[in-house]
Amino acid sequence: MASGIINGKEIGQEIRKSVEHRVTHLKEQGITPGLAVILVGENPASQTYVRNKQKSCEAIGIFSELIKLPAEVTENELLEQIRSLNSREDIHGILVQLPLPKHINEDEVIATISPEKDVDGFSPVSVGKMMLGQETFLPCTPFGVMKLLEYTGIEVAGKHAVVVGRSHIVGKPMGQLLLQKDATVTYTHSKTKDLPSITKQADILIAAVGRPNFITKEHIKEGAVVIDVGINRDENNKLIGDVNYSDVDGTASYITPVPGGVGPMTITMLLFNTVQSAEKALTKAQAK
Ligand code: NAP
Repeated sequence: MASGIINGKEIGQEIRKSVEHRVTHLKEQGITPGLAVILVGENPASQTYVRNKQKSCEAIGIFSELIKLPAEVTENELLEQIRSLNSREDIHGILVQLPLPKHINEDEVIATISPEKDVDGFSPVSVGKMMLGQETFLPCTPFGVMKLLEYTGIEVAGKHAVVVGRSHIVGKPMGQLLLQKDATVTYTHSKTKDLPSITKQADILIAAVGRPNFITKEHIKEGAVVIDVGINRDENNKLIGDVNYSDVDGTASYITPVPGGVGPMTITMLLFNTVQSAEKALTKAQAK
């Protein structure tokens, strides 16, 4: 029997609809959620990502402002731009599209974004709060994966979740969010020995490796939920995941397709975080 498909496009749409209602409600109270996106240089992939984010904002009534800076911009100029956005009342979320040119210190840039506007959830303050289980903006991709599990009715508590990959933006926070929902979490990475012996223990397997078709049937146990975060291009420029879908189909109980699985959730959760930030700003203004 084929595995159940976790449809990120549909779940994403459902969440976007509820976010759109919240935008309408905010506008009735005189506040339009605003997202500023900073794009440095001419990286074509970054340009596409930014365009998609802006389009998604516009579709549900979020104001989005694109700040394009040349690749030669100095770190100081970029930091100044962020500080100016930090103090603007019409901007509730600030996003710096990564990667940045090599002469700019990404850590410094991300740390300069006000935690109140850090809708990507990458700043040290946001990460620290997430680790402590305090209210904060959660990083969009792992947050989106948690929503996929929730909307599909997949119980996380007590399950063994194995995360393949430990990047700051996906793997690490992914494991943390699963842990907070009472999963038993194992992290694996490029130095892990005998990866299949570990991934085969997973009730929930998260692949965030960045290697096309890396996870095969030999990595998973019968009935596992397989979440494919990977976005790769094959030789025909077609999008493929980190999981060899046709190979694991039938062995996994559920699987996310690529495209149409985790991908649409990342932008959805960015919209979610931006609206949440605007709601917080409104509550704060009303309390004054
Ligand atoms: P990354 O920063 O390159 O991290 C990849 C991780 O995979 C690293 O932790 C690395 O281990 C680990 N790894 C590499 N080879 C391995 C191996 N042979 N066995 C076990 N682990 C291995 O990538 P990322 O930013 O986390 O992204 C991962 C994938 O998700 C990419 O395909 C990316 O395009 C995609 N992505 C998708 C979305 C979305 O919206 N769906 C968002 C972000 C990223 P080490 O730490 O030891 O090097």
